[in-house]
This record gives sequence, C-alpha cells and structure tokens, in this order.
Amino acid sequence: MTTRRITTLFEMKQFTAEVRSRAKSLALVPTMGALHEGHLSLVRQAKAQCDVIVVSIFVNPTQFGPAEDFARYPRDLENDFDLLESLTVHAVLAPSSTEIYPAGFSTFVDPGPIGTVFEGAVRPGHFRGVATVVLKLLNIVRPDMAFFGQKDFQQVVVIHRLIQDLNLPVRMVVCPIVREADGLAKSSRNLYLSIEDRKAASLLSLSLKRAEEMAQGGEGETQKLLEEIHKTVDVEPRLQLDYAAIVDPASFEPVPQVLPGSVALLAGRLGTARLIDNLIFGPPGSTPELKLQLALTAHAADKGIGATPRADVDNLRLSIENCRDCAAVSSISLPAREFLAKYLKRDYPDLQSTRVLVIGGCAPIDPDGSPYCRPETPNPFATKLYDLLGVRNSGEFKARFALTDAARCHAIGNRVDERTLEYCAKHLRQELKLFPNLQSIVILGEYAYLQFQRHILGRERARIKPFGELLKSQGWAQETVRLPSHTERDVRIFYCYHPTFESKKTPSIAPYLE
Ligand code: AMP
Repeated sequence: MTTRRITTLFEMKQFTAEVRSRAKSLALVPTMGALHEGHLSLVRQAKAQCDVIVVSIFVNPTQFGPAEDFARYPRDLENDFDLLESLTVHAVLAPSSTEIYPAGFSTFVDPGPIGTVFEGAVRPGHFRGVATVVLKLLNIVRPDMAFFGQKDFQQVVVIHRLIQDLNLPVRMVVCPIVREADGLAKSSRNLYLSIEDRKAASLLSLSLKRAEEMAQGGEGETQKLLEEIHKTVDVEPRLQLDYAAIVDPASFEPVPQVLPGSVALLAGRLGTARLIDNLIFGPPGSTPELKLQLALTAHAADKGIGATPRADVDNLRLSIENCRDCAAVSSISLPAREFLAKYLKRDYPDLQSTRVLVIGGCAPIDPDGSPYCRPETPNPFATKLYDLLGVRNSGEFKARFALTDAARCHAIGNRVDERTLEYCAKHLRQELKLFPNLQSIVILGEYAYLQFQRHILGRERARIKPFGELLKSQGWAQETVRLPSHTERDVRIFYCYHPTFESKKTPSIAPYLE
C-alpha cells in the first residue's frame, strides 16, 4: 500500500468521500510534524480502532505567539512521510498555510476560561489557535475518531470541550504520554535541547514521579506534593518553572487535596526550550488508560466516595457522559444514533435473526473478557455464561445470542449508581429497537435487573422486589412483559445471578430458551 500525500483540501475531501463510499471507518491524527514515538503511538492506536488512517502535519501559525518559535519549529516532512509510510498510514495531509488560512480568513473559536489559564496564560491566544485549527481539520477530514496525546493535557481538555460544546460528530481518543528512558516526555521541541540541557530536563518528570510516589504513600495535601516538585526541580537553577499546579481537570482550579483523576501540570524553561509535562493521579497500580478515564470522564463530585479518597478506591465509580467501548481508551463524544450505527452493528452479527438478548451489568467492560473479543480469550465470565445458556463456545453463543452490558464502562468498582444506570439506559432503550424479532431477554445480575426494572419497564423503585429475594427459591426468575420497544407481542424476561458472582450460581436456563 502506498501512502497518499495530500496537500489540498479539495483532494482531502475526495479522499474522505472515497472512504465513506466504502463504508470504512476513518481516523485523524493531527500533528505538527517532526514526528517521534509519541506521535507514532497515536497512529498505532488509531490503526487498532479504525480502518483508514489520515495523519495531518501542519505547523499551525495561529497557535504561536509573535515572540514564539513558529519560524524555527522543527520541520522534516520527508522523514515524517517515510515514518508514516512505514506504518502503512493511508494518507498524510500536509497543507500549506494559505490552504488552511486563505486571504480574508477571520473566524476563530474561543475556547472559554480553560483556554486562558496555565498554558493559555503564558501563551495568550494559543488555545484559540489550537481550537480553530482542530475544528477546521475535523471539518476538512470528517473522521469518525480523532486521536490526541495526554502530553498536551490542557489541549486535550480544550478539544474535549470543543467537541462537546459544538456537537461535533467525532469520537475523541486520548493516548498516554510516551517518555524517553529517563522519563522526559517525548516532544518535537526536545530537539532544541543541548546534551547538558537534556539531563536537566528529566528533572521535570522526576519531580512528578516523586509527587506520585508521595501520593501513593498516603500524602494527599497538594501543598506538600508541590513542595516536593519544586524541591526536585530547584536542584537545577537553569530549569525555571513557569508554573506547577495540581488541578481539577474539569475546571482547572487548583485543588487542596489530591483525588483520583486530579492532574499535576508543569511547564518550565531551559535555555530557549519550553517544556511541559503532566501527571494524572490514580489508585495504586492503575493503568495510564484508567487514569485518563478518571481525569477526563468522571464528574468531579463522583471521584471519591467518603472522606479519604485513597481509602475508597475500590468503590471508585465513574459516570461517563458518553458511551461504551471507552473502556478501551478514554473519552468519547458521539451522539447515540451515530454510535449505534457505527459500533453496535459491528458487534452483533445478525440483528434480524437474534431472538435472545443477554444484558449483563458491566459484561463486556474488559475488552479481553468479552465474548466479542477477537481473537477470543478464554475467561470465567464467558465460560459461566455459556454454561448458563447451554452453549459450548463463542461461535455457538454468537449464532444465537447478542450480549450487551447494562452499566457499560460508566461505572467501575462494586457500586453502580442510579444516575449511571439511567444514563446507560438511554442507549439500552435504543439497542432494544435494533432487534425486531426479540423473544427473550436474559438479565444478568442486580445492576442490570435494577436498570431494566426502573428504566426500561419504568417501575417505581418501591415496587421492585429485592434481587436476592426474587431469585431465592430457584436461583432465577421469569416474567413476561410488553416492552416499549416491542409493542406487538410479549417478551420473556429471565433474571439470573451475574456469572461472575462467586457465591451464587444460576442453574442452566437453556431448556427455557429453545
Ligand atoms: P504536536 O505535533 O506536538 O502538535 O503533537 C501532535 C499530537 O501528538 C498531540 O495530540 C500531542 O499531544 C501528541 N503527542 C506529542 N508528544 C507526545 C508524547 N510524548 N506522548 C503522547 N502523545 C504525544
């Protein structure tokens, strides 16, 4: 496959139209070039999630201040192109400045208050330029998904807001920071560093690492963590901090106590180079992806339960405004209708012939644990589910059943709140409509039960029998209902224990599903 080199918007639009006509999904990875492993990690993530990948390379003049490094920003288009070709990227969009900003251009996006603090305060107008060019690129390429790096955390939040506030039909995926061996975040601007500077620069990430260790050791006061950051950086007088702060990622307000999802932001100067870095605090052992979820998708008030957040990390819950396979990476903005059309139909091979829908609380939350995982990974959830339904493997399962999860990844830990269930029920109600010939629904576990009773059948909380009581006598229960999505005939509902519920097992209900 050869990589297409596109320089005009006209050609780009043609390319997108071609991709659309073949019903392929399209990813955009916007960059300013001088590519390194950080950029390439976004490309790899995009390849894992989309059919066709476009990488844009455009050093955007409107995001640089008059005294900044626009003119000398590193540019190496030929090398970038070779790298992207070796990754079999489908197209590289490298337009000229006049193609993006033709004479008479005068409309800009104002990203609001978040665009005016920290990086926005040091670089006035920077985020106005970023938001404007990203909106333009999204409109030009019209991707299904766009990929950004956590490295530029404030930029991520600005773009996340842009997508939500302007109802852009794109799903945003944020990828963790790729670092050098000594911890320095990879950046095109690292090319400005002398060998000596390069050593000093690693103090930025070292200071974040120390703050993280202190937080995990039990220090929750941000003042103490910031003192440690300053102490570490001050060892090198040439490294001057522009700011160091620990903020709530939704408001960018400094916080007195660290919560899971709080973010430490750092910016410093070393000679002529300006470097930024950040750290998301999370429960010990949490993956970079989980930390991103905590920072970008949880509501501030939901991040900790109880007075001491660290003590309650197991109960940590997320309520995400958008949807489902966000467990894979992070934030999403996609209206439900597009979501259903693009992602759901791919999961369920034959919507017409599906007679039985299985709804399980958080069922496919772990991509490796889902029966839809390709290639399939044996796992306890699937094995017990197959026993319950009387099938031997995922092939048999997929031929007869469709699986969806009730709470999706809007919740983790062992509590799912009412608001989360209601939010996810919106999608569940639409999903039900996708299966016109549904005869039965198997409900796995208490959360799916509560969601179904409250938000699909619309029953009053006081009228809902406690789950344990309902299942007490035979380990499962059954009722026949008329669903709002299926008004022509009755649908049989089976309530069972969740397959991962250790202490109770539902006997096989296979004979009733014939
Ligand atoms: P830039 O070329 O600096 O505009 O970056 C293009 C995209 O790559 C942005 O979404 C950045 O956040 C992302 N990026 C840059 N450096 C890194 C890194 N070290 N790790 C992950 N993503 C990065």
